[in-house]
Amino acid sequence: MKPRVLAIFERLLAFETVSSESNLALIEYVRELLLSKGIESLIVKDESGKKANLFASTGPRELPGILLSGHTDVVPAAGQAWTVPAFQATVRDGRVYGRGSCDMKGFIALAIDAMLDAADHPLNRPLQLALSHDEEIGCVGVRRLLDVLHLAPVRPFLCVIGEPTNMQFVLGHKGKGSYRTYCRGLEAHSSLAPRSVNAIHVACDFIAALRQSQQQLQAQGAQDADYDVPYSTVHVGQIVGGKALNIVPNLCTLDFEVRNLPADNLDLFLEQLREQAEAIVREAKKLSSVADIEIETLNVYPGLDTHPSVEAVRFLKNFAAPDTGTAKVSFGTEGGLFKQRLDVPVVVCGPGSIEQAHKPDEFIEISQMEAGERFLDGLLGSLKI
Ligand SMILES: [Zn+2]
Repeated sequence: MKPRVLAIFERLLAFETVSSESNLALIEYVRELLLSKGIESLIVKDESGKKANLFASTGPRELPGILLSGHTDVVPAAGQAWTVPAFQATVRDGRVYGRGSCDMKGFIALAIDAMLDAADHPLNRPLQLALSHDEEIGCVGVRRLLDVLHLAPVRPFLCVIGEPTNMQFVLGHKGKGSYRTYCRGLEAHSSLAPRSVNAIHVACDFIAALRQSQQQLQAQGAQDADYDVPYSTVHVGQIVGGKALNIVPNLCTLDFEVRNLPADNLDLFLEQLREQAEAIVREAKKLSSVADIEIETLNVYPGLDTHPSVEAVRFLKNFAAPDTGTAKVSFGTEGGLFKQRLDVPVVVCGPGSIEQAHKPDEFIEISQMEAGERFLDGLLGSLKI
């Protein structure tokens, strides 16, 4: 690994950018580093002002650029059994340990180094860097940045999201919607239960509708054999309701998620689900007008489906190792949002394995960092005039 990459990597790992905390110190470090080579950054803060996205570009402004993108936030280390310091780089046995080493500060270090290198040369296309916050809590932060980039007169030629893929080209993942449902009934003495509306029973009817829709998606929805589960999935993950056995409960809340193949329309699915909920409520309202099912959207991000034959993928293949394959993955990325908002081809490709992400003693193999270096060196080489 180049000494400058390692030095940047070590600095990045030392910032405790857990999603709940501010990432401003890290962003300021990157901004100053880029500025040392004359690269200006656009900083887009969240509403609290405590977190920020960064966008920077070097090279001819009027041309579509190659955008390297990563998230600066990491998942918490507290409560995990770490044997090395979580927020400090430990270089040992051909690995770099630390929270965020593989997900995904290693790639960010490589991308920053490439930007610094690019600033020293005339380029035939711009090289660009996008850093986001709050990715780990549902791709929340990058949306504001995309609102701004969406208005730019020139869109990128392609976007590389450097999530850990062992440097394979990931061209697809499912989208995801998460929802909270409030099922309401009428509180009563349990001896009078049949005359009242039991919120838990309403919730059970709604869950039955969810399970029925899963069967429908499985039988009639889109299919893609590249995924372990080749169809869109529905799942209830949490349910809370009732106060005591002798009280008919008036509230039951449940959280469910849908992980949809890009070919299955999530909005349409929700519309159909709401119709089923209305039918359940109509029945319950025969006993009490307070009966209700309210579905609140917690978070939605779109899936990604980049066609392997698009120019951007063929272009990137020039710089990849000969054995680089294309794949689809089960985890989500910001790629779907980049595709949706900027209409740019997206390839997810970065060093390290998702197997090591989010775990105690998270690490990245130095050989992976070096593979990432070779890829970005080749890419940058093609941009230099
Ligand atoms: Zn990640």
